[in-house]
Amino acid sequence: MNYTDTTEAFAQLLDQNDPLRSYREQFHIPKHSDGSDILYFCGNSLGLQPKAVEALMLQELNDWKEFGVEGHFHAKRPWMPYHEFFSEKLAKVVGALPEEVVVMNTLTTNLHLMMVSFYRPSEKRYKIVIEGGAFPSDKYAVDSQLRYHGFDPAEGLIQLRPRMGEDTLRTEDIEAVIRKYADSIALIMLGGVNYYTGQLFDMKRITEVGHDIGAVVGFDLAHAAGNYPVKLHDWNVDFAVWCHYKYLNSGPGSIAGAFVHKKHLGKTNIPRFEGWWGHDKNTRFKMQGQFVPSSTAEAWQLSNAPVFSMAPLLASLELFDAAGMDNLREKSLKLTAYMEFLLGQIKTDRIRIITPKNPNDRGCQLSIQVRNADKTLFNAITEKGVIADWREPDVIRVAPVPLYNSYSDVWKFVEILKSFC
Ligand SMILES: *Cc1c(COP(=O)(O)O)cnc(C)c1O
Repeated sequence: MNYTDTTEAFAQLLDQNDPLRSYREQFHIPKHSDGSDILYFCGNSLGLQPKAVEALMLQELNDWKEFGVEGHFHAKRPWMPYHEFFSEKLAKVVGALPEEVVVMNTLTTNLHLMMVSFYRPSEKRYKIVIEGGAFPSDKYAVDSQLRYHGFDPAEGLIQLRPRMGEDTLRTEDIEAVIRKYADSIALIMLGGVNYYTGQLFDMKRITEVGHDIGAVVGFDLAHAAGNYPVKLHDWNVDFAVWCHYKYLNSGPGSIAGAFVHKKHLGKTNIPRFEGWWGHDKNTRFKMQGQFVPSSTAEAWQLSNAPVFSMAPLLASLELFDAAGMDNLREKSLKLTAYMEFLLGQIKTDRIRIITPKNPNDRGCQLSIQVRNADKTLFNAITEKGVIADWREPDVIRVAPVPLYNSYSDVWKFVEILKSFC
C-alpha cells in the first residue's frame, strides 16, 4: 500500500471503492454535538452496537414474558442450547473447530479457568512467561495463580521486555528467553495483540518454540479476536480466551469466549473446575452426582447460558460471517496503512507511532505516543468529535475498524489531530 494523495476527495474515492463499505450502515454510529457522526476509533475498547441487536434483545425479553421457564424450550432461540448457536460462526473468527470453542463467563474468569487446567506447575517447572506491560488483569491473574500454587511471582514470573530504545518485542528475543529458561517454564501466556503497543505476536512460532521446550502455550486474544484472522487450531495453541465487547461488538461486559485445542478434549486426566453446564448434555438432567464431562470445550462451562449477555453476539457474528475475516483483514491492512501514511504527513516532532511498522506485526490499531504529553492534546481532539483512547503516561490508541470505520473517518481524524500538533 503506497499512498501519495492527501486530499479528502481521495479518501472519498477509497470509500467508494471499498467492497465492505455497506457494513457501516449495520451499526449505530454515535453523534457529535454538532450532529455529525463521531469519529469512533475505540472499537478496541468497546465496539459499536449492531443495529440488529435491539430486535434480538427484545425477542428474548418477549419470550421470557410469554413463556416463563418454558422459554428454555419454546423461545424462538431456545435458551437451553443457546450457547450452541455461536460455535460455528465463532470458530471461523478464531480459526478453530466448532467443538473447540465455547462462549461463557467473562475474559479474566476464563483465563483463570484455563490456568486451572493448563497451568500445572511442578517443583522444577513452574514459571509463567508473559509480555512486560501486559494488561493489568492478565498480570494479576498470573501472579495470583503463581501464589495460589505456592510460588513467588517475583521469581516465578518472566516478563518479556523490548530491547533498550525499542518499543516492541522481537520474536527472536522472545524465543531466546523461552530457550534460556526452557526447563523451568510451565506456561507461556501472551496477548495475541498487545493492548498498549498494538503489536501482533507471532503466535504460530511462539507456540512451536513453547512446545519444543515442553511448556503449555495459551493466548489472551482480547485485542486479536475479530481483529486478525488467528488460526488457533492449525497453530496448535493449547488454549485461548477473549472477550466479545471489543472488536466483536457485543456490548459492555458481555459474554466472553474460550478455546481448548481438540487434542485436550475428552481427556479424563485434566483437572478442571466443574459445573453442571459442563456435564454431558445427554445426561445432564438426570442430576446424578457423578460429573460426566462434555466431549467438547463446553466441558469447561459452569453455568447455564446468560441469554441477555449473549444475544448481541448473535448479531455481531452474523456480520463477521457475512463479511469474512480474511476480507476484513484485507481492508484493515489498507485502512491502517492509510492512517499511518496521513499521520506521517503531519509536520511535528510531538507525535510518534510506537506500533510496529511491518503490517504483519500489527492488527488495526496504531498507538501514537505524544511527546511531553499531558492529556490536553487528547482532550482537544475529543472535543472535536473524536473518540479514541488515552493510556497513561503518553499514548493515544486509535483503532480504525474495518467493519464500520471509513477512509473518510481516518482522513477527518488526522486533520483534527494535525490542527493541534
Ligand atoms: C480488555 C482486556 C481485559 C479485560 O478483562 P475482563 O475480564 O473482560 O474485564 C483483560 N485482558 C486484556 C488483555 C484485555 O485487553
